[in-house]
Amino acid sequence: MDELKPPQRLLLGPGPCNVPYRVLRAMSTPLVGHLDPLFMQMMDEVCSMLRQVFKTENQMTFPVSGTGSAGMEATFVNLLEPGDTAVVCQNGVFGTRMIDVAERCGAKVIKVEAEWSQPLDQQKIIDTLKAHPEAKLCAIVYAETSTGVLQPIQEIGAYLKDKDTLFLVDTVTALGGVNLEVDAWGIDASYSGTQKCLAVPPGLAPVTFGPKALEVLNNRKTKVQSWYLDLTMLSKYWSSSERLYHHTAPITMIYGLREGLRIVLEEGLENRFERHAAAAGHLAKGLGEMGFGFWAAEGYRLPPLTCAIPPQGWDVEGIRKKLLADYDIEVGGGLGPAAGKIWRIGLMGENACVQKVAVLLRALQDFA
Ligand SMILES: *Cc1c(COP(=O)(O)O)cnc(C)c1O
Repeated sequence: MDELKPPQRLLLGPGPCNVPYRVLRAMSTPLVGHLDPLFMQMMDEVCSMLRQVFKTENQMTFPVSGTGSAGMEATFVNLLEPGDTAVVCQNGVFGTRMIDVAERCGAKVIKVEAEWSQPLDQQKIIDTLKAHPEAKLCAIVYAETSTGVLQPIQEIGAYLKDKDTLFLVDTVTALGGVNLEVDAWGIDASYSGTQKCLAVPPGLAPVTFGPKALEVLNNRKTKVQSWYLDLTMLSKYWSSSERLYHHTAPITMIYGLREGLRIVLEEGLENRFERHAAAAGHLAKGLGEMGFGFWAAEGYRLPPLTCAIPPQGWDVEGIRKKLLADYDIEVGGGLGPAAGKIWRIGLMGENACVQKVAVLLRALQDFA
């Protein structure tokens, strides 16, 4: 076997994005044990920084070992028991995945749907919740990476604030890229991932659970179906007072997340959101001038991920392959009804800047 020499790609897909050198450097520093006092301190620091980026006071905020989908699974398996009702919203791949996960928990799923380019109507969701006050939770994706739709969610959170039903939000592509206020918006449980706007390699899923969610967890009649993701045990490892061994934390990933979060907070959340929005604006302007269309409904476009429709006559998949092979630029393909029709262009983390947009637009001129 030869030594591994991956090329320097510009990762403008739906994640992962390019990782800052500072994060890679942190990840190549020496290991300590996962119960070493130094590592314990690091765990507390990571949790405290995660609370800042989620904008929450939730004590139960920590990174689950695994990617975003492990975070999804962790929220559902801990909050749902067989026979429970769950209202799940679906207007893309990740809403569909949530339905699958909820059904595997044995829940009866009430779906609220919209076309895969449109946002869901909050009033329609609230009406469904009024018809199903028995629902244990209402789950929705805030930033749908399969369609590029940024879903308004605050009215649902406000409605559920004094109800028993929990509000569960997928914030995988939102965290660190668009404004998110877990406490102020009445979100009871949320999960994210590291490889989108936090610009850390894939491997951890930050999660947060509020008091209402913990009450549901503590009043379960059955054991959590998953041993690995059981919060009642995981919380004893992540709580600074107990530190009871559950599984070995992926130490190197925690180093990386710690550095990634430091970078996010150094920049400041609001500056970071503005930078992502400005870069998306530049991209949309440049693409529009070249004759591109946009998949997601106007007014609901997600800055970190633009779903662009190439001009008539362009070989959508062929050019995407050439961008990767000849230009070292990765963009994502379409999914579901958008398969073969669009590109999903991510501007996440350090890639959310005019320089990277200019590189892509220049490369595209060769195909015009
Ligand atoms: C990427 C993504 C996920 C899944 O995360 P993985 O890290 O691929 O497991 C879930 N939800 C949304 C909205 C995503 O963008």
